[in-house]
Amino acid sequence: MCRCLICETQIKSFMSFGRMPLGNGFLAPENYSKEYFFDMDAAFCEKCKMFQLTQQPDEEQMFHENYAFFSGTSVFMAKHFQEFAEDVIKNYLQSDPFVVELGSNDGIMLKNFADRGIRHLGVEPSNNVAEAARKKGIECITEFFNEDLAEKIVKEKGQADAFLAANVMCHIPYLHSVVKGIATLLKPNGIVMFEDPYLGDVFQKTSYDQIYDEHTFLFSATSIQYLFGVHGLELIDVIHQETHGGSMRYVLSHKGARAVSDGVKNQLDFEKSFKLDQSASYLQFKQNCERSREELVALLKDLKSQGKRVAGYGATSKSTTILNYCGIGPDLIEYISDTTPIKQGKYTPGAHIPVKPYDEFKGNYPDYAVLFAWNHAKEIMAKEQDFLHSGGKWIVFVPKVEVLD
Ligand SMILES: [Zn+2]
Repeated sequence: MCRCLICETQIKSFMSFGRMPLGNGFLAPENYSKEYFFDMDAAFCEKCKMFQLTQQPDEEQMFHENYAFFSGTSVFMAKHFQEFAEDVIKNYLQSDPFVVELGSNDGIMLKNFADRGIRHLGVEPSNNVAEAARKKGIECITEFFNEDLAEKIVKEKGQADAFLAANVMCHIPYLHSVVKGIATLLKPNGIVMFEDPYLGDVFQKTSYDQIYDEHTFLFSATSIQYLFGVHGLELIDVIHQETHGGSMRYVLSHKGARAVSDGVKNQLDFEKSFKLDQSASYLQFKQNCERSREELVALLKDLKSQGKRVAGYGATSKSTTILNYCGIGPDLIEYISDTTPIKQGKYTPGAHIPVKPYDEFKGNYPDYAVLFAWNHAKEIMAKEQDFLHSGGKWIVFVPKVEVLD
């Protein structure tokens, strides 16, 4: 038993993924003995309807000087954030606005405001990515956001017209302090707009690889309505996104400040009919994960026995959950190809599969490639026509385990 991070009700995990390393903890063999693991157990709170991990790794293990993930490296994501920013500017900003982004990373979103001369501030805990943002002329501070910081920002720069975040909120265990800070920071008619992987998609697709150390929570409209409601904020719109394998963009304001769209009621109704608010659904999800694991492992073992060469495509943080939960190591997957230089030459967290440069894949195609970056399947499959022409086949595991050729 432990306490819900949102409403403090006693809750019990419905599923254990076992001992898990950090999703992004790619490492060299000399560091295997120091590798960090935690028990990754998931729980659902009946009262506030929040899906959560019952243990969080130490913060300093996760965000540090060498935080590897630079948002700006993806052209696709750059376009996504440009559209996100345009939505905010067109629909919600008035004269001389001030925009704050939590987890501004290398400035991929705020750049769109900075380029238009809009007053902005990024709050980013990792210094290496914040430094990259500053070089692009984006104003940011290296801090963790909470109530105290919100008060400090209001004193120095005034209240904000918009508070933004993308793939950040679900990482933060101490959300009450953050939401309290948002309520303080936000102008009376200001808006909050943030997006994160959506629990409904994870359930529908059995995409359990969305669950890893950095994702303390998987949100639904129902749980967000509860959490923000505690601090006098309410959902005014929800917009489903295809990014990250299915995300939800939540728009909130101070209660009563703005009209609530029909989309909010529709989404809350959908979640009820889909039983996202009931414990029994989580046991079903657990069974779906177990079946997916059995099928994937059986397929890889079968290919191995046939003497086929199998590689992985995309050494994502998400792949860490798959590899460790399924117990897949270098005996079943020869290597994983990835274009990120900082990962190349290292080994995957926990499973210790070598990460090799993309040229390795391109120069000597394996018989099968497990598509760990499945959320970019369309782009990747279009780009890798030659792999298929060479006789190569894709292995996907979302929404179900299958071979594609
Ligand atoms: Zn709760």
